[in-house]
Amino acid sequence: MTNHDAVRFRGQLDQITGKLAEALPHGDLSAFYRTFRETDLPLLPVTFRDDPRTLFRLVFETLQRLGALSPATALAVENHFYVSSAIATFPAGDDVLLEQRRHAVLDKLGARRALVANTNSKIQGNKLGQIGTVARRKADRFVVTGRASYTSLATEGDVLVFLTRIEDEGHAIFVIDPMQGNPAVEIGPYLFPSAMQDSDTRQITFHDLELTEDDLLLSPANPQAGLLIEHEMAWHQLLIPALYLGAAAGALEAVRTFLRGTTGRDGKPLAELDGMVVDVGRLALDHRSACFTVLQAGETLATVRRLPDDEEALRRAANDARAAKYVGTRCAEEIVTAARRIVGARSYAGGHVLERLSQEVAFGPLGPEVSAAIERRYGEAALGDESFTHRSW
Ligand SMILES: Cc1cc2nc3c(=O)[nH]c(=O)nc-3n(C[C@H](O)[C@H](O)[C@H](O)COP(=O)(O)OP(=O)(O)OC[C@H]3O[C@@H](n4cnc5c(N)ncnc54)[C@H](O)[C@@H]3O)c2cc1C
Repeated sequence: MTNHDAVRFRGQLDQITGKLAEALPHGDLSAFYRTFRETDLPLLPVTFRDDPRTLFRLVFETLQRLGALSPATALAVENHFYVSSAIATFPAGDDVLLEQRRHAVLDKLGARRALVANTNSKIQGNKLGQIGTVARRKADRFVVTGRASYTSLATEGDVLVFLTRIEDEGHAIFVIDPMQGNPAVEIGPYLFPSAMQDSDTRQITFHDLELTEDDLLLSPANPQAGLLIEHEMAWHQLLIPALYLGAAAGALEAVRTFLRGTTGRDGKPLAELDGMVVDVGRLALDHRSACFTVLQAGETLATVRRLPDDEEALRRAANDARAAKYVGTRCAEEIVTAARRIVGARSYAGGHVLERLSQEVAFGPLGPEVSAAIERRYGEAALGDESFTHRSW
């Protein structure tokens, strides 16, 4: 990336964060999305396809900036970025058909400046991990029925990337286009009626949606299907902490404004209290450490260039991404809580940014992989056959 490109990138970040800040108090994000689509930012995965290192750094920074203002909006945008970044960097190797398909999808996204929503078809059922949709083969078509609980960016997405099960075959990824105005795709009301509204997360129901082989991005017959889904998940687990650490940075900025702008009874700014300096320093160190963990995990993912040759590197990258997601979202929650205690009750007065950050940062640890699942995985590894002192994570 040249200096000129970097200046342009940061200028566009200023533009979209300015629009978001203006839009949030009115509860109407249409001007923000209009501006976002006009910039080059949604196209980063298209531009930096097959360059995961640069792509990750740029998307990390973008989500941090958005997350500092509105984690919910950043989550909607994160869904676009993680799916399109995974497609842009799929280490498909010699799979000619998959290579053709993913480049065709990227070209289409680029040409239309399209935003990508996604669902993995999970439902909030009485059994963990249940999938609510199925695709059945009928002659040369697939017919999709059922429902999926979670789809963010649901009313802004142009294209829906959709993970389901093809009956008697296995997991597959389809690309549904168009997503909006499609009579077979019913986009329901908010899943969380009083939280995270700006993530635009809604339930989707499929009414005999007909798809063809051309809509199939990843077929269950692909021997690497499982690994490619794991690669996509690693992107997701890396970008989620980026946005929530952005929320933590926003909280630290609120602390800075408060402590520098408020004096104690002695007339001195609270920012000069020695104890306060130490307390805030501890929070800033936690934030920096968590960011390093996420950035390092991004580097690990960038080493995965070709499957199945790099299967071992993918395993490591997926585990690093889990750790990054776990540490990043937990740290973000702790920093926002600490910031709220420093700023006090005025955090909830007059549309203060800490009110929004406090409500939304709590969603960090809740997905995509829940903290309990990550703890269990690491616990089993730490208690396994290999001594902890010999383990190279
Ligand atoms: C705001 C928001 C937006 C989202 N947007 C999308 C989207 O656009 N597309 C999409 O596909 N998905 C989306 N998701 C879903 C997300 O990717 C995860 O599937 C979801 O967050 C998992 O949470 P759950 O409560 O459904 O998990 P569940 O698996 O139902 O877990 C519920 C609880 O069970 C316990 N538990 C689960 N597994 C274990 C375990 N292994 N060990 C011990 N305890 C366990 C934990 O206490 C856990 O909190 C979204 C989620 C949220 C919160």
